[in-house]
Amino acid sequence: MKIPVQLWLPLLNFDFLSGPSSRDLQRAQEKWKGEHRIWLLPEASADVRWACQIGPYSFHEMAVQSETFNVLSVIHVDGEGNCFPSAGEHLLESWGGRLPADLLTQWLNQKFLIMPGKKKIKISAPDVSGQKVKYKQRTVDLSPGPALPTSQLSDDGKFKMAWPDGESRLARSVNPEEEIKEYRGVPRWDTASESNFPLAVDAEGKHYFNVWLTGSSPFDKMFPSGLNLNAVHQHAAMKRAATKNDVASVERWVQKMTIEASTTLEASYLTPVFEAGGSEAALNIATNRINASFGSFKTWQDLVKHEDYRKVFLSPVKIRRCYGWLGYFWLELNHLLGKREATICELCGNVLFGKIGKRFCGQYENPDCFHSRRAADVSRHRRRWKKSADGLRGEK
Ligand SMILES: [Zn+2]
Repeated sequence: MKIPVQLWLPLLNFDFLSGPSSRDLQRAQEKWKGEHRIWLLPEASADVRWACQIGPYSFHEMAVQSETFNVLSVIHVDGEGNCFPSAGEHLLESWGGRLPADLLTQWLNQKFLIMPGKKKIKISAPDVSGQKVKYKQRTVDLSPGPALPTSQLSDDGKFKMAWPDGESRLARSVNPEEEIKEYRGVPRWDTASESNFPLAVDAEGKHYFNVWLTGSSPFDKMFPSGLNLNAVHQHAAMKRAATKNDVASVERWVQKMTIEASTTLEASYLTPVFEAGGSEAALNIATNRINASFGSFKTWQDLVKHEDYRKVFLSPVKIRRCYGWLGYFWLELNHLLGKREATICELCGNVLFGKIGKRFCGQYENPDCFHSRRAADVSRHRRRWKKSADGLRGEK
């Protein structure tokens, strides 16, 4: 069993390590008291908290006065991968409230796709100006991301994007989002353009197509507003560290993208189990595994009413808080590298975690690669069989 984690997952593009969003993260962490959703609202004049009842739990939300607009969902994941809340933004329904065991491998073998960017999105957000919090439809203006330098278009329509670009004479990239903004300026929307495709323009008047990076399922849902350059950069760093067994570099990223924080056993352990296995499973855990002196509880209410409940389940316990899915992936990689060997499939180049000496994808790692290899094996086998059959006939 792994240590429980707490995922902080932003709805819109978010840089956990620098700029205004990282300052908003600090503000949210200082004010957070266990809420399930944190609204970063520039117009909020004070911090506001509210709750609503969903089934046996109350779902808590808060608004923090911030520099940027965003929404952070806080998801507790126990050592077995059970999540609470078990559904909602960022999580796939097909997971049934439990993170897939091979999510990291899927991520490492993810290919990024490009899609047209957006200038605005519509979102139902709390209005905290009155006495009572009300949800209202709100349009959020998005700014174009940093412009990644592209090289000349070749005849076949291909172009290359690279950072550092050589011209700016930069050291190896650490945070491309921040570096490009600093060295190349922040582009703005080209309002003069009539194009349906969102165009951005920089201070020198250079135009850029605005595109977002996304992944195929499940990453399109896990990252609802796409992936920024930092995500792509860290993806490459993870892949490199995995195949070189570079534990030290993984540990450095874990230090940056996760922190030690505290939560309650109710949030980190009991509610994910309740969500996954129902009240009986949670009551069993409460009775047998956490505190044997509890006796047996017939219902959830019996348990919550017990005099020791508060002391045992609502006292702070240490967990690891992950900054976005990337924080979680770094932590998973760190956990895995100590135990299993990462190799590269000799046929398709996928990263594999498995037995030492493993050379190719299995059925679950890359079904296409697995089936094409099996098909090749079968035809090789047939050829060999035909040869020996011909040989036998020849001996007659
Ligand atoms: Zn393969």
